[in-house]
Amino acid sequence: MTKRNPTRAIRIGRTHIGGGHPIAIQSMCATHTSDVDETLIQCEQLREAGADVVRVAVDNQKDVDGLAALRKLTKANLVVDIQENFPLVEKVAPHVDKIRYNPGHLHHLQKDRPIADKVGWIARVAKENGCAIRIGVNCGSVAPEFLEKYPDQQDAIVESALFHCDILDRIGFTEYCVSLKDSDPAKVVEVNKRFAAKRPDVPLHLGVTEAGLPPDGVIKTRIAFEQLITQGIGDTIRVSLTVPNEAKSAEIAAGRQILDDIEHGRFRSVPDFGKGLNIISCPSCSRVENEAFVNLAMQVKEITAYAKEHKITIAVMGCRVNGPGETDDADLGLWCGPSTVNLKRKAVVIGTYGYDAVLARLRENLDQLIGGRS
Ligand code: SF4
Repeated sequence: MTKRNPTRAIRIGRTHIGGGHPIAIQSMCATHTSDVDETLIQCEQLREAGADVVRVAVDNQKDVDGLAALRKLTKANLVVDIQENFPLVEKVAPHVDKIRYNPGHLHHLQKDRPIADKVGWIARVAKENGCAIRIGVNCGSVAPEFLEKYPDQQDAIVESALFHCDILDRIGFTEYCVSLKDSDPAKVVEVNKRFAAKRPDVPLHLGVTEAGLPPDGVIKTRIAFEQLITQGIGDTIRVSLTVPNEAKSAEIAAGRQILDDIEHGRFRSVPDFGKGLNIISCPSCSRVENEAFVNLAMQVKEITAYAKEHKITIAVMGCRVNGPGETDDADLGLWCGPSTVNLKRKAVVIGTYGYDAVLARLRENLDQLIGGRS
């Protein structure tokens, strides 16, 4: 096995990442945390499948109450993503082992408060509660000031992460790791390499976001992980797959398989996703607007298979929170509402259709796109 980067070890509940510890595997419950019974079942399924860290979603006070109850019932190392609502940290930190914040979401609330001040406060709360932090930078939501300053999106992603590391370093908070994610494995490789070259001491959480349905989602993730982990980069991983709720442990199984293959030198010859049709889809979570989302993603894959030779990206997202933004860069994008699906061409909205009707409109637009290029 390749020598790993000399990252410092950080503690996440009962486990450690970095500092030579085995690469940890993470997954996420797709349940509403307010439903303690369902969340506990999924949490334990993931833990039994080998998840070292389990993420749960918290969107409101009922979820906070559910989290407090869950904490007493499971030994899983829990993490919450505070999304756009950073003041939530105060409520969730007593019940979790790690907090994830996205630097690109901190500007939404308390707009006049300096970012460094917000981060300092998050770190203080985390420290008081023995929590680690993940600075999670994401291609679809890079902080606007970095996108303005760095026209190259990859520079913006890396510089944003470095800036936040610097804030935490200056206040002496060391229990943090970083993730730099994109739906394109080549970009994931590039930004993680650039970051690791500048901060080899910071533990990295690896992942290809919106990797999509298996087997493509696993293959895309494998492409990135093989190239990074063989160069000593990566201390914890998540394989994000669009799978039904009851099959979430497939993410853990895929992660274990990839790590085992890399450790034993079994590298796979993989297709170049930059050349043909590329379908990206989110793994779905408690925010998903309609349970039909996973089925929709499968149908999109099925009815567009005829276009596999065309270099076209189709994005399928499960909710209104991330859907509108994360479909902007795709040639064709679909994001779900409770009973309708919004169809887009790049950032332009084509229309809103029922779950069944949208497929015919997608097909029409795909044909037009292909016709316009030929
Ligand atoms: S796009 Fe929405 S539903 Fe899908 S994983 Fe992200 S937050 Fe969850």
